[in-house]
Amino acid sequence: MTTQLFLRPGRDDAARRRHPWVFSRALAGSPSPPAEEVEVRSPSRALLGRGFLSPRSSIAARIWRFGDGPLDASWVAGLVESAVALRERFVPPGTDGYRVVHAEGDGLPGLVVDRYANVLAVQATTAGTEAARPLWLPPLAARFPGATILQRNDVASRHGEGLPLEDELLAGSPPPGRVPFRERGLTFLADLAGGQKTGFFLDQRENRHLVRGLSAGRSVLNLFSYSGAFGVAALAGGATRVTHVDVSAPALALARENHAANGQDLSLVETVVADAFEDLRERVARGETWDVVVTDPPAFAKKTLDVDRACRGYKDVNRLALKLLAPGGVLLACSCSGPVSIDLFQKVLFAAALDAGVPARILERRGAGPDHPVSIDCPETEYLKAFLLAR
Ligand code: SAH
Repeated sequence: MTTQLFLRPGRDDAARRRHPWVFSRALAGSPSPPAEEVEVRSPSRALLGRGFLSPRSSIAARIWRFGDGPLDASWVAGLVESAVALRERFVPPGTDGYRVVHAEGDGLPGLVVDRYANVLAVQATTAGTEAARPLWLPPLAARFPGATILQRNDVASRHGEGLPLEDELLAGSPPPGRVPFRERGLTFLADLAGGQKTGFFLDQRENRHLVRGLSAGRSVLNLFSYSGAFGVAALAGGATRVTHVDVSAPALALARENHAANGQDLSLVETVVADAFEDLRERVARGETWDVVVTDPPAFAKKTLDVDRACRGYKDVNRLALKLLAPGGVLLACSCSGPVSIDLFQKVLFAAALDAGVPARILERRGAGPDHPVSIDCPETEYLKAFLLAR
């Protein structure tokens, strides 16, 4: 049986503009579990689309198909197929680690699938996505025969949705804790068991490639390094030395393994377990200079209420990072905060440069790679922003 959700008068604009999120406050009445298929209807009962309910979330439902067509296996298989086909066209050579499904960006709300060689790491971030598993799992498994499919469930949003948090093996044999894969000919280890995200930050692939191209003969400071991927790319590009800074000692241990996996000279690599804010202040006080600096902090803002505080954090980090730039040096400044728009982030960097007294120039505005497509109907899916600044 399909539940009908009626939008309140004046609250059907977003759905008519094909935005997939149906907020609970836009609903006439409050839906109750189970998290099943729903029909979303206008106040005058017109069918706007079909989706799945997330009864405990402020986004009460997400629309998977607009209009009156059925939300069935063949519709979802078509979305999975077009997601896979897109990657076949855009993933660069020498790469078997990439995002196969990017949730709303591929028309599959709440579903993230990252590929690491023969392992697919899945996140189903909403109750609706979980309920829809019989629709998305068979076409995914059919497209990657023999692959291990692991659903990683220790995801913040699942806590709020009241979903189980233990990982589930959906296909194949249990994967090793660390899965080696290739990115543009380099080898990396995804930490499936204990790592952040699904084990690696695939979204930065094209920005790592940029840094690789800028690093020949340069010193590189990689702040908020996680498992060191920017630094591995930098050494592959001929960097003279790389320093990684992160609060997580296990992430830095993995960084050394990633360098070693590529046969790189570990004497050129330094790992520093520290708070990056404090570390930066000390480097500025010591008068250090660097040719290439990367700042890639965790999302300082997850919701709109956090934006002011997040901007202060981004300003602080990048003000200090700019002060470290040698003449002709470059800073790759990243933000993965969804609610901080690229224009706002640019203003923050402007304020940082002004305070630092550094005449910065914008060389490039960048985002995630094409395996993280942004839904034009759902601009919230554009979470990663990056600026390449030159001194
Ligand atoms: N640049 C990385 C991804 C960075 S994710 C890549 O390309 O793979 C953000 C990282 O910041 C995490 O590894 C987290 O451990 C670290 N982190 C969070 N707060 C920090 C802080 N205050 N100082 C230093 N590192 C921090």
